[in-house]
Amino acid sequence: MNECEVLRDTAVAVVGDRIGAVGELASLREQFRDSAEIDCARGVLTPGLVDSHTHAVFGRARYDEQEMRAAGIGYMEIAARGGGIHSSVRDLRSRSEEELVSLARVRLERLASYGTTTVEVKSGYGLSVADELKTLRVIARLAHELPMRIVATFLGAHEIPLEFRESAKLRQSYVEAIVSEMMPRIASEHLASFVDVFCETGVYTISETRQILEAARQNGLQLKLHADELTSCGGAELAAEMRATSADHLAAVSDSGIKALAGSNTVATLLPGTMLFLGKESRAPARKLIEAGVPVALATDFNPGTSPTPNLPLILTLGVSQLRLSASEAMIAATVNGAAALGLADAVGQLRPGFSADLALFDMQDFRELPYWYGDRRCLGTWVRGKSCYPRHLQLS
Ligand SMILES: [Zn+2]
Repeated sequence: MNECEVLRDTAVAVVGDRIGAVGELASLREQFRDSAEIDCARGVLTPGLVDSHTHAVFGRARYDEQEMRAAGIGYMEIAARGGGIHSSVRDLRSRSEEELVSLARVRLERLASYGTTTVEVKSGYGLSVADELKTLRVIARLAHELPMRIVATFLGAHEIPLEFRESAKLRQSYVEAIVSEMMPRIASEHLASFVDVFCETGVYTISETRQILEAARQNGLQLKLHADELTSCGGAELAAEMRATSADHLAAVSDSGIKALAGSNTVATLLPGTMLFLGKESRAPARKLIEAGVPVALATDFNPGTSPTPNLPLILTLGVSQLRLSASEAMIAATVNGAAALGLADAVGQLRPGFSADLALFDMQDFRELPYWYGDRRCLGTWVRGKSCYPRHLQLS
């Protein structure tokens, strides 16, 4: 992760939707004679950034809760006043597919404007058969409509819905609905590539998580896990054991969890924006993970409650300043490893012949400026599959 390769006076040839060659400008000019040229000399061209963890389909913003938290009002009290994740659930349930498409479209375009070309989007504010399917259809429509590459994740196990909390039996019946009703439909209608579970003390237990992930595998879906965010409850160990593609959050991962991840192919996706926004002191042990040999990815966790930032380069800043990554490690975390966290390591995240032509051009002279100019938008333009993505019709000359 500490060996980001930097090439100077280099050109990238795009052939169709892929990278055809990377090499010295004069020889590429010779090889691809009649090709149109885009001059990227004023900037740094990188693989398009990969944001591998977002909850970008939601209704209302929840800025009121930020003030409540600042005033020292606790999580339970915020929930009692109608805030928290259940307020997003009520809100999403009340909105039409059309409305959700318009809201999410604008938000995804903001993500794209910071250099992100691939984004994972989770459901999880529906928490009923109809509303989870509605959310996934919204994601599918956006994937079809927007130039960004969008990967859908089914997170019906984001929380236990309020109406299923009365008894253990009711709770189990919701898990049953995820496993037997939602998942087979989602798989047969190709509405998601991944299934994710919020495995945490007070949310989904290890055994419920295991049941849901086993069903996901039987339905041919790949696995992700919200693991060890607040308490170390064995989520990282379970992710490694179940061969999940990624284990996300990990602010409270234990040493045994790190060891389990190191012995697996599971990517550790860290979300330092969430910790910053909530004003928490704890940090994911990024250095320990990297030193143990675990591939680390960084993502925004873009969501209305705990991380409303569309700015992935800002998360790279936090990766360097708070998680003590090098600029190279942060860059790899948001490209190569972000792609690996989405099962796309052989197709996106690198400037290499045969990879998808997903590129981002930044107004800077050294890639280390990306985490340095924190909060700034330095992206001049992006391309996905060889076509301009941000701005929609890019003109560079
Ligand atoms: Zn999340």
